[in-house]
Amino acid sequence: MTNNGSAAFRSLEVAIIGGGIIGVLTALGLIQRGIEVTIYERAPTWHEVSAGFAFTGVARECMERLDPRILDVLSRISQKTDPNDASTSYWNGYHPQTKSDAQDESKALLFQMPGNKLEFWGCVRAHFLLGMAALLPDGVVQFGKQLVSYNDSETNEKVLLNFADGSIAETHAVLGCDGIHSTIREVLVGADHPATRPSYPHTVAYRTMIPIDAGIAAIGKAKAMTGCMHCGPNANVMSYPVMNGTLLNVAFFAHDPSDFPGPERMTAPATREELERIVVGWGPHIVDIVQSFPEEMVKWGIFDMNEHPTPTYARGRVCLAGDAAHASSPFQGVGACIGVEDALVLSEALVAAQSNTINGGHHGQRAAIVHALQAYSQARMDRGQWVVRSSREMGQMYQWRYGRTGRDAERSKQKLEGASQIIWDYNVDKIVTEIKLAAS
Ligand SMILES: Cc1cc2nc3c(=O)[nH]c(=O)nc-3n(C[C@H](O)[C@H](O)[C@H](O)COP(=O)(O)OP(=O)(O)OC[C@H]3O[C@@H](n4cnc5c(N)ncnc54)[C@H](O)[C@@H]3O)c2cc1C
Repeated sequence: MTNNGSAAFRSLEVAIIGGGIIGVLTALGLIQRGIEVTIYERAPTWHEVSAGFAFTGVARECMERLDPRILDVLSRISQKTDPNDASTSYWNGYHPQTKSDAQDESKALLFQMPGNKLEFWGCVRAHFLLGMAALLPDGVVQFGKQLVSYNDSETNEKVLLNFADGSIAETHAVLGCDGIHSTIREVLVGADHPATRPSYPHTVAYRTMIPIDAGIAAIGKAKAMTGCMHCGPNANVMSYPVMNGTLLNVAFFAHDPSDFPGPERMTAPATREELERIVVGWGPHIVDIVQSFPEEMVKWGIFDMNEHPTPTYARGRVCLAGDAAHASSPFQGVGACIGVEDALVLSEALVAAQSNTINGGHHGQRAAIVHALQAYSQARMDRGQWVVRSSREMGQMYQWRYGRTGRDAERSKQKLEGASQIIWDYNVDKIVTEIKLAAS
């Protein structure tokens, strides 16, 4: 980024490290608010897995406030659960021993979450990322730029960014949206700090998307057309329709008592046979779903920041957002949703910093950014850390490893309702008002 003379002191220049979902959402929110943005992404081009993603109403409200075009993109490509119907139903995947029993609510349904506003919009992650990327003005993204370190010295007018290719860039503020293995976090908390090391909740995930007809043949139409969690001992299977109901997204999670090979890569080779062994004794519908997985595939190690939460989301003119701040296991299915909230709060905080510096000089600007990022960190830390803890417990519950709660449908329902309330009852209006006040 260049300093274009005095005007550059007034218009904030922000560098976003990482062009994942949260980096791009935040960029769009900042551009919409008149802030100059550059995204530095280490990959040579956009990349996202072709797996499913679902967003809560709160996340959608945040998207609309960030930039209404984001919600248009999501709306175009997503499969929406019926808000008047149950949002997700939780089934016993283990005990029913015939397909008809497995579809019989009186025999296999553990509980349902009430409908009302618990509507999820599910989409294919890669489609959402590409749809949003198309909204970015030319020149905003620099690919092939892997950040290796930064220098936020008080004596420098700007933060210096060092990349693996030897190049250097400078900017007023840095947003670390670089995911669970965040380099920004490592520099921000110090390389020896335990928060640099994600934790392994001893769970692996196998994912696939199958034609909806194959899904219907395995679990029945009613279940295939809505979000379902199939629970059992040491494993759980999440399924929901995507691509306007043409595909069924299936995520199979299994308890893994050993250590994950190659935690840095987060994936390891896997076979369908592994899954077949896990579902011995489970209901025939789950055994059938397993047959839709390819014979050879990869499995994902699930990592989170439960054991070593980061002590702050901001230091100086640098902050963390999305998984870089609070990577959680996927059991509550809202990791990215919480990141979307970060993006909105951060955008509003930086706008406040920008207006603070319109008439200020160099020192005024630095102080305004530091103040705004601290306000952002304080606004988001509790919720970010809560979701990591809560999501872990949900996983143990679905896999019947959370005391008696998992096998006890009523207790499980109560626990889930409590967590859902925290997720869905987030008052976006209030948080925006509060951050505007706190950051100004
Ligand atoms: C199985 C599974 C299912 C999930 N389902 C859901 C769901 O339904 N709903 C939901 O809300 N959440 C879900 N999540 C969570 C969600 O995937 C994450 O929260 C989300 O993808 C995080 O986005 P991010 O942009 O913060 O990080 P990432 O997607 O990890 O993006 C980080 C980006 O930074 C880049 N990068 C990394 N290091 C550097 C560097 N040094 N320099 C430059 N670039 C760098 C990477 O290449 C990448 O593009 C799920 C997670 C899993 C594992």
